[in-house]
Amino acid sequence: MESNKDHAALAEVFNKDEDRVDWHDETLWWIRQKRDKNVHQLPEWELLRETASNIKHNVLSNLSTYLEQFEKSALANGVKVHWAADAKEHNEIILGLLKQHQIDRMVKSKSMLTEECGLNDYLATHGIDVIDSDLGERIVQLAGEHPSHIVLPCIHKKKGEIGDLFHKYLGTPSNVDDPQFLTETARHHLREIFLTRKAALTGVNFAIAETGEFVICTNEGNADMGANLAEIHIASMGIEKLIPKREHLGVFLRLLTRSATGQPITTYSSHYRKPREGKEIHIVLVDNGRSTQLGREDFRNSLKCIRCGACMNTCPVYRRSGGHSYHTAVAGPIGSILAPNLDMKKYADLPFASTLCGSCSNVCPVKIDIHQQLYKWRQVLVKAGYAPAGKKIAMQVMAATLSSPTLYHAAGKMGRATIKFAPFAVNNKLNPWYKQRDMPTPPKESFGEWYAKNRGK
Ligand code: SF4
Repeated sequence: MESNKDHAALAEVFNKDEDRVDWHDETLWWIRQKRDKNVHQLPEWELLRETASNIKHNVLSNLSTYLEQFEKSALANGVKVHWAADAKEHNEIILGLLKQHQIDRMVKSKSMLTEECGLNDYLATHGIDVIDSDLGERIVQLAGEHPSHIVLPCIHKKKGEIGDLFHKYLGTPSNVDDPQFLTETARHHLREIFLTRKAALTGVNFAIAETGEFVICTNEGNADMGANLAEIHIASMGIEKLIPKREHLGVFLRLLTRSATGQPITTYSSHYRKPREGKEIHIVLVDNGRSTQLGREDFRNSLKCIRCGACMNTCPVYRRSGGHSYHTAVAGPIGSILAPNLDMKKYADLPFASTLCGSCSNVCPVKIDIHQQLYKWRQVLVKAGYAPAGKKIAMQVMAATLSSPTLYHAAGKMGRATIKFAPFAVNNKLNPWYKQRDMPTPPKESFGEWYAKNRGK
């Protein structure tokens, strides 16, 4: 996702529509509350989180072993395995497979990894038509946008806007925004596509090293439609998606959807193991910076992520700034940890787009210390010279003021006097705080002055 603007500037664009911001905020918070209700029904919730975190810890500590085991098992099942070091290689492998089979139209479902790799645009430049079949992904595709949320790709769109898109591209009557009707229309539109595409690409939620199988979780069943009807099924998978054994799957399936949408389980948890007679399954194992992140001790735990989106739903910054403000495929708190690993300069703004309140870490089903990692990224980025100049100067001034009692008291006096006698100096458009709040009435004296007078009374 290319943008010359940083998170704050893009959030400002989103914030222009206050109704949208309120409704986006409330909808995501409602999902967070659904998650809480469901979670509280499971007394063993914390045990599940701890277990999942430990299983993933084991996987990350032995990643190369599990990857080799998975490859061996998958090959034995008749699945073709490809390795991609980066996004470029991933895209080239997919294009090569499609060319080899003389296919120029593909259906795709549930793959944020292909968003990360920019696959749709790449294939379009090579004359391949890709249709996203997940309803939310199809809506953003029709709008010429990228998903704004990893689980709810079009959460930023209002019903009326979706109705307008369907009217423009799918021929529905104008001003119709009934979700039932629009969903039915999309179903007919996609049915035709499923029946005519020879290739289907899906993501992977979990891959099992022991058996070589992989699992895709969806609520719409569209991944199954695509993969089962096509002659060639390509599964794009980040190398961190592994779990050692099938018996571990239950732990993750119980955590995933409860955390994502507050459902006890996804409608479809589909297992793929071997191709049917006359069909092909290909798995592309993608690194794209994951090995580098694995080598960053402070950030390696971020690879435990199962992409449930709970950290986004709970984040006060995400809820009020929208997913597109993160200008990266995976938005929100976890995206702000993953993106700087790929390009520190380009994504230096993201770890600062957080209040560090810790709500993300509290809800994370695999116990990633998200807010701690955001805080650590800030330190890394500042040391590496990627903090904005304004922020660097402000921090130096603040450090000098807070380390000198004389300067600190003088600054306090000056601040109180300014608010009292020259309020326009702070209550103006240049002060973002003032835009929606009144500055407080200044106290007559500081606590230090009061204490000095009243000490010992
Ligand atoms: S970091 Fe945790 S909460 Fe956020 S998407 Fe990943 S698993 Fe879910």
